[in-house]
Amino acid sequence: MARPLTATIDLNAILQNYRYAKKLQPTCKAFAVVKSNAYGHGAIEVAQHLDDEVDAFAVAAIEEAIALRDSNVTSSVMMLEGVFEADEWALCEQHGFWAAIENDIQLEWLFASKAKIEKIFVKLDTGMRRLGVDKDGAQVLVEKLKASGQVDEVLLMTHFACADDLSDITTMEQLTYFERTRHAIGGIEASVANSAAIMKWSVPEGGWIRPGIMLYGISPFAELTGQQLGLVPAMTLSSKVISVRSLKEGDKVGYGLSYVATEGHQLATVAVGYGDGYPRHAQGGTPLKINGMPAVLAGRVSMDMITVKLANSDQQLEIGQEVVLWGEGVPVEEVADFASTIGYELVTRMTSRPHYCYQ
Ligand code: PLP
Repeated sequence: MARPLTATIDLNAILQNYRYAKKLQPTCKAFAVVKSNAYGHGAIEVAQHLDDEVDAFAVAAIEEAIALRDSNVTSSVMMLEGVFEADEWALCEQHGFWAAIENDIQLEWLFASKAKIEKIFVKLDTGMRRLGVDKDGAQVLVEKLKASGQVDEVLLMTHFACADDLSDITTMEQLTYFERTRHAIGGIEASVANSAAIMKWSVPEGGWIRPGIMLYGISPFAELTGQQLGLVPAMTLSSKVISVRSLKEGDKVGYGLSYVATEGHQLATVAVGYGDGYPRHAQGGTPLKINGMPAVLAGRVSMDMITVKLANSDQQLEIGQEVVLWGEGVPVEEVADFASTIGYELVTRMTSRPHYCYQ
């Protein structure tokens, strides 16, 4: 192996986090959400590892669903955003995919295709104003789907806008609207909960939960890390020190010479950059570890490299030392915070350049 940047993915951690989601909502079945390459962790590897245990997988698009089938994943796969084109319904029938539905065009395409679909989730807009129909629209969609004879089971789903904010009453308002609609329709299964709702809100008994970020050991809440929530981090991004130099007071570093040493100290260059998925906007002070020693980013992130210094200047830097960018001992949520983003984005934006190592 040449360049020492590695994303180590702990597949058993993902399985453990899936089991934890089910334990928290024991009356529910659970999708494992593996869209966007399993949030950057490798959808095929993750799905193959979980295939014997999951109730079903969830993805955003048919390409993602077909990629799972092409890799011999046999569990059911749900398309969270439904179909984007008419001919996708035939593929859903062929591969046994389930789908959300949220508008009349998707419905017309379904009827025209005559495809038989096992489960369709009618998407109710309970407040996010992104996808879905209102209460009356949902009632009509459900009736038409049931009358069509093309669907074995029709369910009702919604998505929360603010479940990651425990002080925001929007989630309770969305739930109330959802439950009122569900009871008006009568006898229909629910799917409402993302990771934040699974962990911190009370969600309808039975039906389907949809854990995504928690499967990867990452917290959806700004104020809590995954580990504090009892999750096991699944990705460790690690590299090595590839160069070391001594700076004296006033020395400047990197593009724009934006970092200025306020005292003499050692500086290490580490093989990772925004070309790998490390955030370009990470601020000075972003945490990392070098041979277990706390260290911080010093200077701008380049495409292939970053420059860093130890938090304790009595310790020594050397070429070849192991660097953890996030994962074991360095919560990805903290790194994300220093880059004004969220853990979701950091892992999902990983590129194909690091070596991926599955354990
Ligand atoms: N359900 C839907 C419809 C989603 O779009 C997502 C992710 O964006 C999820 C569930 C999973 O959410 P989370 O990753 O916050 O658990």
